[in-house]
Amino acid sequence: MAPSAMSRWTKALSEAQPVPYWLDDPGRPHPEPALTGAETCDLLVVGGGYSGLWTALNAKERDPGRDVVLLEGREVGWAASGRNGGFCAASLTHGLPNGLTRWPDEIHKLQELGARNLDEIEKAVARHDLDCEFERTGEIDVATETYQARELRDWYGELQEKGLADGIDFLDAEAVREQVASPTFEAGLWDRRGVAMLNPAKLVWGLKRACRRLGVRVYEHTPALDLKPYGAGMAVRTPYGSVRAR
Ligand SMILES: Cc1cc2nc3c(=O)[nH]c(=O)nc-3n(C[C@H](O)[C@H](O)[C@H](O)COP(=O)(O)OP(=O)(O)OC[C@H]3O[C@@H](n4cnc5c(N)ncnc54)[C@H](O)[C@@H]3O)c2cc1C
Repeated sequence: MAPSAMSRWTKALSEAQPVPYWLDDPGRPHPEPALTGAETCDLLVVGGGYSGLWTALNAKERDPGRDVVLLEGREVGWAASGRNGGFCAASLTHGLPNGLTRWPDEIHKLQELGARNLDEIEKAVARHDLDCEFERTGEIDVATETYQARELRDWYGELQEKGLADGIDFLDAEAVREQVASPTFEAGLWDRRGVAMLNPAKLVWGLKRACRRLGVRVYEHTPALDLKPYGAGMAVRTPYGSVRAR
């Protein structure tokens, strides 16, 4: 690139702020106030990503009388949960090929549990009105070379033999191009039920809202600084307070 063009580009980008795509949203909620003072609860959850928020939500759903506090060190969803690809996959083995290689004897059970898990996520999205653009799109692996099309067909045959092809369709060139009109696609394998797409940040924000609606007390900008046994429970120190969890 010529130096003058380089400086034009550099200048154009000089005030750009790197922000994860999903988090750069005018609907991004304000963080909840930080904890100041002493709190007590039955269950303390540390971390406001998917792990923490689903834990708090499930705990409250199972026992509405349970007193739950969630501490987030920065803002709910600022980390991996607010900046991922938005692929909500049923597979518990990071894909069927990987699962089949590593756990061939348990793969049917693993697939069944994964499918049930994704169904439950879909139900929870509806039950809690989590406005996260959840769509059960499925996922298509595509072949752009003839040998890849052959491999996909062989793989599909293997899945059929092993009784693992339920919900999966082999698409020839015409069928795959009906879905995605690219002349480079030679074939595809469509897993219709195994993947949903969603907006990851909106899922986090929806989970936070649902937690608060059920009575979870959420504190943001509140890192847990240390964790110590306290009687039969645990105590956590934060910059401006503490939480004792029974
Ligand atoms: C670029 C990228 C793309 C991805 N794409 C996908 C995908 O398409 N599909 C998929 O299923 N997965 C994907 N993942 C993985 C997925 O995002 C993570 O597995 C998931 O978000 C992890 O959630 P978590 O709650 O365990 O962790 P996090 O989302 O990282 O949340 C942990 C939270 O804990 C807080 N915390 C940590 N320590 C403390 C403390 N001492 N006190 C208070 N708070 C604390 C942090 O501030 C943070 O908010 C992707 C990940 C990345 C990074």
